[in-house]
Amino acid sequence: MDTYINVKIYDVTLDEANNAFNEVDKIYKYYELMTNAYDENSEIYKINTSKDKKIKVSNDLLDILNMGNKWYDKSNGQFNINMGNVIKAWKKAREEGKLPKKLDYKISKLKIKDDYIINDNVNLDLGAIAKGYATEKVGDKLEELNISNYLVNAGGNVLLGRHPTKQNFTVGIEDPKKQGEIYNTVLGNNISVVTSGGYERFYELDGKKYHHIIDPKTKYPAENMLSCTVISKSSALADILSTTLFLLTPDEAIDLIEKIDDAEAILYVSKDKILRSSGFNKYEQK
Ligand code: AMP
Ligand code: MG
Repeated sequence: MDTYINVKIYDVTLDEANNAFNEVDKIYKYYELMTNAYDENSEIYKINTSKDKKIKVSNDLLDILNMGNKWYDKSNGQFNINMGNVIKAWKKAREEGKLPKKLDYKISKLKIKDDYIINDNVNLDLGAIAKGYATEKVGDKLEELNISNYLVNAGGNVLLGRHPTKQNFTVGIEDPKKQGEIYNTVLGNNISVVTSGGYERFYELDGKKYHHIIDPKTKYPAENMLSCTVISKSSALADILSTTLFLLTPDEAIDLIEKIDDAEAILYVSKDKILRSSGFNKYEQK
């Protein structure tokens, strides 16, 4: 998943730990092989290069795609898992240190019918969901193995079980303006904390920064805020939402998050403008 994944489990025997890590490894590898658009062996790669009119999709992938489409609708198309062409063009440009040459791709919603994709303008990229989705499955597996004290950090997608000794885990949220410094601290157990930001993966050209979260309207990096952190029991939801809110205007983002029961958010719009959803403060360190 193009990141380091750190998993800590507490209060287990060595055998239980080895078994648990083995299971965790299997889950991440399974979703990696399903969702990595750059791996020729992945299900998503096969879909993106398929010539079939109707493309059959595995049940587990279908669940992710349907979630993607649900948030496409809720964000008026700002969150779109079907803009792989544009995202690939920006990734290539970043690697070459240039601006993308071609961005005039047609962008549309993925068409799903039962358990098939209609092969019309299909180019999937699940970079905004896959880590959170897989991390949620990892949490479910640990709970199933009766491990309740754990912490998973999948490149900024944090999932907390219960802290082994203290009342809460403490998570620092990085200041998007000052690398390595934090601007806020949240406390909790059995929650996921996920941040999306333009400051984590970017490159600079002529003094301007270009990051990896792309506004489908302009096909350029979104510029509504500098970072967005979402807290939810569901790690998949937190991952989707952090990217989705980042793509909306601050007002739209707050409107959307207030409608969602199991999620809170803090938006770093600028140094002087930090917005919170109404329930965010219950997680904040006083
Ligand atoms: P995240 O780090 O979870 O916010 O996800 C960022 C990743 O989502 C990018 O690296 C792309 O793979 C993908 N992405 C970029 N723009 C969009 C978009 N408008 N809708 C959905 N996914 C996107
Ligand atoms: Mg995300």
